[in-house]
Amino acid sequence: MTFRTGLVDAIGHTPLIRLKRASELTGCTILGKAEFMNPGQSVKDRAALYIIKDAVARGRLQPGGTIVEGTAGNTGIGLALVADAMGFKTVIVIPETQSQEKKDMLRLAGAELVEVPAVPYANPNNYVKVSGRLAEQLAKTAPGGAIWANQFDNLANRQAHIETTAPEILTQTDGKVDAFICSVGTGGTLAGTGIGLKSIDRRIRIGVADPMGAAMYSWFTDRELKFSGSSISEGIGQNRVTRNLEDAPVDFAYQIPDEEAVPLVYDLLLEEGLCVGLSTGINIAGAIRLARDLGPGHTIVTILCDHGSRYQSKLFNPEFMRSKNLPVPEWLEHRSTIEA
Ligand code: PMP
Repeated sequence: MTFRTGLVDAIGHTPLIRLKRASELTGCTILGKAEFMNPGQSVKDRAALYIIKDAVARGRLQPGGTIVEGTAGNTGIGLALVADAMGFKTVIVIPETQSQEKKDMLRLAGAELVEVPAVPYANPNNYVKVSGRLAEQLAKTAPGGAIWANQFDNLANRQAHIETTAPEILTQTDGKVDAFICSVGTGGTLAGTGIGLKSIDRRIRIGVADPMGAAMYSWFTDRELKFSGSSISEGIGQNRVTRNLEDAPVDFAYQIPDEEAVPLVYDLLLEEGLCVGLSTGINIAGAIRLARDLGPGHTIVTILCDHGSRYQSKLFNPEFMRSKNLPVPEWLEHRSTIEA
């Protein structure tokens, strides 16, 4: 018999899938690490598990304790599921603007939700700062203690990718990977996978794919934080250098408009049966640009970050997309079940 011993053991070891259209378009082998196949349907399960394990190992969390976090959703879902499986509670602070599907899943996973207005990081009422203050209060009162997961600046986040994502990619490609590229939320995936891959083979190139208007493009090209404009992508679009991003080994940076990424997500579903969110579209657009810069014959790995079912009411809702002046293919009008 071969089986995983429970949810925690089922996180990671995701398949690497050849992306047909992106590969054919560029003459490269473009591979997507199917992180939407984690139990919580996103790449953030890995970070959630490492953050909780680290807090337990440091004696900061006892049985029945509470994990508090500010999250766009996926980290919260990962934390809540791992907490269920390990006997902890979760309190999640989330910006109101995040998709209803993510909020519903968080409640279903047992998280207590605190919804706050979406305001910039500099504002003291920003969701990350609210979650930090809440954790401080709960640490004094909650049975079993309370921790602030603090995914942006907690290095257990990127450690997950140093110890799991990077070695998995090397094993799955027989070490024949030329480049890795992804977008940035906390930077855990980019920095952790980048550090992990380069520690084994320094020739592996690392790229960042930034949604239009976020600051990672200017940071990794000019060491300046310039941000403006907007993207409908969720979970990515960072405007500061988080602790997880410090020393991230980046060789290439691309700025990707939603108009470039959205059709890639739609085509991936229509032609390859892969249903993913928009941060994955940004990643694939970045992989295609990197493939063009490197030339044919290279193997490039990117991340398929989360499952598209999380965005039925937005990315896969023609009405919503039209309101953002983004392209909607004819077939989506027929497939979407969202009422206008
Ligand atoms: N895509 C999605 C959908 C996410 O939720 C996140 C995490 N916020 C990312 C990508 C980026 O991952 P990381 O935090 O490791 O940079």
